[in-house]
Amino acid sequence: MEKTDIKSMNLEELSQFVATLGEKRFRAKQIYQWLHQKQVSSFGEMTNISKGLAEKLTERCTLTNLATELVQISKQDGTRKYLFALPDGNVIESVLMRYKHGNSVCISSQVGCRMGCRFCASTLDGLVRGLTPAEMLDQIYQIGKDIGERISNVVVMGTGEPLDNFENLLKFIELLTDENGLHISQRNLTVSTCGIVPRMRELADRKLQITLALSLHASSQKKRMELMPVANKYELHEVIDACRYYFEQTGRRVTFEYSLVAGVNDTDGDAAELAKLISGMNCHVNLIPVNPIRERSFRQPDHTAVLAFKNKLEKNAINVTIRREMGRDIDGACGQLRKRYAGGTDAKE
Ligand code: SAH
Repeated sequence: MEKTDIKSMNLEELSQFVATLGEKRFRAKQIYQWLHQKQVSSFGEMTNISKGLAEKLTERCTLTNLATELVQISKQDGTRKYLFALPDGNVIESVLMRYKHGNSVCISSQVGCRMGCRFCASTLDGLVRGLTPAEMLDQIYQIGKDIGERISNVVVMGTGEPLDNFENLLKFIELLTDENGLHISQRNLTVSTCGIVPRMRELADRKLQITLALSLHASSQKKRMELMPVANKYELHEVIDACRYYFEQTGRRVTFEYSLVAGVNDTDGDAAELAKLISGMNCHVNLIPVNPIRERSFRQPDHTAVLAFKNKLEKNAINVTIRREMGRDIDGACGQLRKRYAGGTDAKE
């Protein structure tokens, strides 16, 4: 019989499951809190349930615990990069960023990625599989335990396309924000997408209070297609319309991520075109100087060019920040550590 992934179940599902084992339904809440608040790694540690029930659970369920393979700590800013092994032996990476306002964790949503963005290291070997809700959650639990502090913010911006693992993402959000679990506020959660339009609209219809970040990276359809294969499927204006729709449905300001690549999307003309494209929208632009990967020849613009780009947007009344590059000394960019670990030679020093 296939085992049940107990850490991926919501309380209602867990209650039904517990009932099928001939146990009282209230046991479910106790078990749920052991899993998601105390974050135990075995059923034997659940001291207020009977030994018999713990044995039944061990027999019938899997309890996802990620194993920490490696932690790299940045000397520059305290950023920590984790490499975790999944139960099936695949490895994923997650990042802890420490800010004045709290601890933020960036998680992976898939093993690899099939979106093919030209500048991204995570997609070079394609997609292996989506992560289960428990595997997404446990990245946060393990990091919280490691530092012994509360995690206040979560961004789904690591390896993978979260909207390509949609059902598991929704369940993850439900569990992460549940009052019987870690109880992170929806407002402190950001999901980043390369722009899968139907899923963006579906997410909007759920009317959650999470922040949607769109990886824009270009202000014209032509340039976007050159950088991001997904743009062949969903046209720029459709993507922008989906962002407008997200705001209408949720009242949440959308974030646009824009990786600046020297000589590709960083000119004054690009900035002017971007300002026009998103003018009047309730949004925020995050500029990220591209993080070079060895397989591609993309370069960062120099600092003056980055500032000029920012100024141009500000002159057009657009909210914009330059993303601080955290953990540059520890393979900070998506997928670089995992790839290096797997024997790749991608990460540029
Ligand atoms: N698939 C999702 C989330 C993961 S990528 C998405 O596309 O949004 C997280 C962000 O990092 C995206 O904006 C992505 O385009 C960007 N990114 C990936 N590789 C990068 C690199 N080498 N330099 C700068 N940004 C990069």
